[in-house]
Amino acid sequence: MFSFVNIEQYHKDLKQGKTSSKLAVEFYLKNIKNHNQLNAFVEIYADEAIQKATLLDEKIKSGEPIKKLHGVVIALKDVICYANHKVTAASAILKDYTSSYSASAVQYLLDEDAIIIGTCNCDEFAMGSTNENSYYGKVFNALDHTKVPGGSSGGSAVAVQADMCMLSLGSDTGGSVRQPADFCGVIGLKPSYGTISRYGLIAYASSFDQIGIFGKHLQDAALLLEVMAKPDAFDSTMNMDRTKLSLYNMPYDSNKKYTIAYFKEMLEHPSLDTEISDSIKETAAILKADGHTINAVEFDLLDYIVPAYYVLTTAEASSNLSRYDGIRYGHRSNIEIGNLTDFYLNNRSEGFGKEVKRRIMLGAFVLSSGYYDAYYSKAQQVRKKLVEKVNRIFEEYDAIILPNSPTTAFSIGQKDKDPIATYLSDIFTVFANLTGLPAISLPIYKHSNGMPFGLQVITKKYDEKGLIQLSALMMDKKKNAVTI
Ligand code: GLN
Repeated sequence: MFSFVNIEQYHKDLKQGKTSSKLAVEFYLKNIKNHNQLNAFVEIYADEAIQKATLLDEKIKSGEPIKKLHGVVIALKDVICYANHKVTAASAILKDYTSSYSASAVQYLLDEDAIIIGTCNCDEFAMGSTNENSYYGKVFNALDHTKVPGGSSGGSAVAVQADMCMLSLGSDTGGSVRQPADFCGVIGLKPSYGTISRYGLIAYASSFDQIGIFGKHLQDAALLLEVMAKPDAFDSTMNMDRTKLSLYNMPYDSNKKYTIAYFKEMLEHPSLDTEISDSIKETAAILKADGHTINAVEFDLLDYIVPAYYVLTTAEASSNLSRYDGIRYGHRSNIEIGNLTDFYLNNRSEGFGKEVKRRIMLGAFVLSSGYYDAYYSKAQQVRKKLVEKVNRIFEEYDAIILPNSPTTAFSIGQKDKDPIATYLSDIFTVFANLTGLPAISLPIYKHSNGMPFGLQVITKKYDEKGLIQLSALMMDKKKNAVTI
């Protein structure tokens, strides 16, 4: 029987012949099958994964040194390209589409001998907070099947939550890694904008999108980030100054005293569940008692962040998704056509789901002449103000702590009819995307309703090192106490 503690232990066991990568893959394939009703996976590469594991097992027997991700079993969100495998963004418009190349991030994983076990369900084109907007149907939270797993990377979160892989990749444009991690009780890590190449990530809003990581163990997530955080000439928005980020099993100084900020306006926001707010305040008090400096920082832009996010991301989406016209990419309608405009119209009307259409229309509207200045330019100004604000904060502080979501996991169908209510629930996550900051959701709390929730930690742009170190401190505290 295979059991997974973390990558370090797995590699030790492999080297001592106590387990094999084939056993690991078989274990996860069995769990995928047993949890079929959760609908977390879109594609499962069973034969391929077993073959690769067998090869890796031979490699280890021959005494060859092992690579960083030898036999690590990983699932990909269905928006990340893997050469000669299907990628559909959970949309009918890309049904049966096969990628001709691998995302750079995926290639870096493969170069370190990772095993890709399949692709995970998500909201169509990563637009959503519940994973209810998928061509393949809803995903269910493994802890309570009446609850959503969050979104948009719901399948990737559940795949880790229910042990269907060791780690998974998602994408985070406005919270799609941190919020499902929060709802499912796992770690969700979104690096700074420009840390992981976006080449081969299907675009939703290019100036926000980042690939992120789900895992149960902080150091495993740090290792994946270390492997994927490489400069890539195929993504012109990357931070090319970074050559090598060493993040795995970094020693951390448990005596270091941090200076941490929180926003009173966030913790006292009327939408925030009081138990979530109280837990974070309690954590702040405990950190203070330990000698860290914790201060409330004023945040007067809170009311503007969700509108700014939805104006800018829908604008970018309306442009990015114009390539799905039935000629360059995507579904082609069978309806007889009289002219080219109708041809595009039919292809796109049939191919896109309701939420994606809503966002394309909203994006086209905010970019249209006459409205551009009123919406798009204003939202850009908000973004600029936010960046100035965080730059000032990080002159004084090492980190910001905040919630991920106003509530624990929503009930299935709860947000179905009201898109605005769903958008508003992104209030605590979009901040890090608007400002490009690295952020993580740490699964350290349990609500009296039985569902988990996490603490969100944000550090300075490109300070992934600080983020992992502070997270390690928090996770250790959690290990030693019921609550922190
Ligand atoms: N819930 C947000 C949205 O619907 C976040 C999506 C994401 O991060 N991909 O836009």
